[in-house]
Amino acid sequence: MDQNAMGSMTATDVVVIGGGVIGLWTAWQLAAEGARVQLVDAAMPGQASAAGGGILAPIPPTGYSQALVPLLEDSLRRYPGSCEQLAMRTGISPEYWVSGCALYGHPVIETANPPSWLRDASALEGSRGSHPGAGVWLPHVAQIRPPRLLAALRAACDQLGCERWQKQVRSIDLQASRPVVCLADGQRLSTTHLVIAAGAWTGGLIPAAETRPVAGQMLALAAGDYAPASIVIESGRYLIPRKDGVVIVGSTLAIDRWSTEPDDADTRALRAFASQVHPTLAAAPQISCWCGIRPAPASLCDTPMIGPLAGREDVVLATGHYRLGLSLAPATAARVVQHVAGVTASA
Ligand SMILES: Cc1cc2nc3c(=O)[nH]c(=O)nc-3n(C[C@H](O)[C@H](O)[C@H](O)COP(=O)(O)OP(=O)(O)OC[C@H]3O[C@@H](n4cnc5c(N)ncnc54)[C@H](O)[C@@H]3O)c2cc1C
Repeated sequence: MDQNAMGSMTATDVVVIGGGVIGLWTAWQLAAEGARVQLVDAAMPGQASAAGGGILAPIPPTGYSQALVPLLEDSLRRYPGSCEQLAMRTGISPEYWVSGCALYGHPVIETANPPSWLRDASALEGSRGSHPGAGVWLPHVAQIRPPRLLAALRAACDQLGCERWQKQVRSIDLQASRPVVCLADGQRLSTTHLVIAAGAWTGGLIPAAETRPVAGQMLALAAGDYAPASIVIESGRYLIPRKDGVVIVGSTLAIDRWSTEPDDADTRALRAFASQVHPTLAAAPQISCWCGIRPAPASLCDTPMIGPLAGREDVVLATGHYRLGLSLAPATAARVVQHVAGVTASA
């Protein structure tokens, strides 16, 4: 890292604000392209990425906007190879698994060219839970295990020399020719490129990137051999079985809520949902319960904000991924890298 004449002003190629899945994946890819990367993360309680379920498809898998489809398809195509690379290089497997998904309560309209996650859909025999009608089997829906994906990304960043700092960004100064990141401890980081991936907190740093918090509560159950064989989504709620018998039950959707304190009534509702959909889960011991804060765009639409801030090619936003940030991380990172490379080449 270069120190400039002022001593406390540090110059680096790219500063990334945010160590959730979007910031980490982007930092990893920027570092892989040879950029000198500094990642600053405040370890805010309620980080969405660690709290997420890890289903790699929209939830529910129907009813998404058409603007989302190409970005998501690009991301899902990158997932298996990236996870393999992460596991090989870091020894930490993100547990990418095409477990398939049984979908109830959401009609799947047949189209000539369905997105990958709805391809080869077939009717499920019999009824389930509160839905007397048959469900739909989606064989291509995959999942990852978020805490393991994040651990692998952190290790991959470290291997490539990316500096990760646990510090809070107080503000961003865009008065000078280069962006300056002002840390709460008084330090100022001057950078060639700035990537803002601060999740639900982004709007507090850059008001033009208005974000809204949408809290989500989850449970983990120790189901052992009694776990469902695949992901089950029913009327917007879901069960996600992991390979070691843990089942994740999610989730609630509390718009404009910042609290990360699990709510007892929500816990009871999630347990009741799990038992109704997969009755053997009624006896499964609860391992843990948590809340995360999804970063939603102000309009609550499903398409994130990825690209330069108006009038500043050197400041790139990567936020507003709402319910789909884990799924969209690889394509988001690719777009940010492409932008930074383009600006660097034309400078
Ligand atoms: C309950 C739940 C279930 C979900 N399930 C899924 C799913 O199955 N599939 C899917 O694709 N998506 C899912 N999501 C959505 C997904 O988790 C999010 O869209 C994604 O994690 C957003 O990532 P992010 O990096 O933008 O934000 P975050 O993960 O929230 O990371 C933002 C980071 O910025 C840091 N930060 C904030 N402010 C500052 C500051 N001032 N200075 C320094 N650092 C700062 C924070 O410490 C934080 O680490 C789920 C989310 C929740 C809550």
